[in-house]
Amino acid sequence: MEENCVFCKIIKGEIPSTTLYSDDDFMIIKDINPQAKIHLVAILKNHIPHIDMLTEKGASILGKIMSKISHLQEKLGISEGYRLIINQGKNANQTVQHIHIHILGGEKLKDF
Ligand code: 5GP
Ligand code: ZN
Repeated sequence: MEENCVFCKIIKGEIPSTTLYSDDDFMIIKDINPQAKIHLVAILKNHIPHIDMLTEKGASILGKIMSKISHLQEKLGISEGYRLIINQGKNANQTVQHIHIHILGGEKLKDF
């Protein structure tokens, strides 16, 4: 856990969030600044800042997140389809240095 990390604070319950799913490895919360009708973030419970610092365990949790999302589509409101995004580093405008997967859906998304 990192003192000044927003997502670590959310995991510790120091910052409130709307949580849709949580287990030992990760949680899925509503993004505070939604970029689509449904915008969630899946946050690893370990503080790993970047993809290039990913451990084997971290990598397996990312896989588990994707599998879990597919099983929770109804509950998350994304059963008509969704987009998963990881912003990595400066050029991708990563603002929180704690690995997370954006989950976008709930409407027809624009192509990119
Ligand atoms: P990034 O830009 O690093 O890929 O994504 C960080 C995301 O975290 C942004 O979409 C931002 O809106 C979200 N975020 C930042 N602070 C908070 C917060 O305190 N609570 C929640 N729920 N989301 C946050
Ligand atoms: Zn953190």
